[in-house]
Amino acid sequence: MERLPACNTISSDDVSSVAGAASFTVKPEAEQGSGTLRTHFFNLLPPIFVVAIVVFWAYAPPSLVNNAWAIVVTSVLISALVQALEFIHERHSGWRITTHEFATDLFYVILSFTVIAWASSAFADDPLHAVKQSLGITTQWAMHMPFVAQVALVVVLIEFGQYWMHRAMHGWTPLWLTHAPHHHITQLNAMKGYVGNPVELFLISLSVVALFDVPLAAVFCGLSILNVVSTFAHANVRSDPPGFYAFFFTTIRNHSLHHSVGYENTRCNYANSLILLDRIFGTYCEGESDIVGQDARKRLSIGEQFLFPFQPLIARIGARHGKTGLPVP
Ligand SMILES: [Zn+2]
Ligand SMILES: [Zn+2]
Repeated sequence: MERLPACNTISSDDVSSVAGAASFTVKPEAEQGSGTLRTHFFNLLPPIFVVAIVVFWAYAPPSLVNNAWAIVVTSVLISALVQALEFIHERHSGWRITTHEFATDLFYVILSFTVIAWASSAFADDPLHAVKQSLGITTQWAMHMPFVAQVALVVVLIEFGQYWMHRAMHGWTPLWLTHAPHHHITQLNAMKGYVGNPVELFLISLSVVALFDVPLAAVFCGLSILNVVSTFAHANVRSDPPGFYAFFFTTIRNHSLHHSVGYENTRCNYANSLILLDRIFGTYCEGESDIVGQDARKRLSIGEQFLFPFQPLIARIGARHGKTGLPVP
């Protein structure tokens, strides 16, 4: 049975007892930011991005919406912009992007927009759409809602599924083995949300949006919002958005806590983008961690990330031949 976080605030005492936790900070909301114009500007960037995305897709011409590359280019632009911000207003010097980290992150961005996107479409969205057609399921009411309500529907549908899938990954060992590579990353950067074992990336991409009749522009808008929120929530940018944003959307503060060292410390703040779900379902934790990673903060190579779910099998085979595999939590 799944265990919930022991408390809503993890103190530095809790974390200092965990191997590899060099520092840990919990800052009251009022202490965020120094009050300078530059600080305020960077703190407002995530909500500004969200508003800009809504306006962009609300007024995008049909030729752009129907272009298969539109959502890909938008997503890449979001990653590139936020990645660039890391060089202008860094959060932690220990998370500074290196060529090696950048190359790995880029590999996973490409993997997500090719193999994972194809698998998600072929094995989830297309079959769901076929079921919807064959059963005559219609949700025409959704087509008559205001654009912002349609976008909100898409965001909630996707995030609700991702929340429970992610929570299940932290509560059941076979699923955790697919998700653990994402927690082995030892620094946070703009593209780190894409990094993970391919099985996990596929599972976390599943949603029931295909069962609903909503305009393509609203779907793309919802995906872009989730993308920008998640990107900022993984980025090494000193940006602490105001309370009205942080109440609904996941921030780097809350998500860095989810990435903190020690398996039990990760069992809160599951929502990739809509932290409101953690508040509703009792898994919200306040705080921030600048030290991230698992298993003594061992950074995994791409090969190790791919093979991680099979470690019990590899360890068993290795034991027969006198070799050991990676440690399994
Ligand atoms: Zn997780
Ligand atoms: Zn993450």
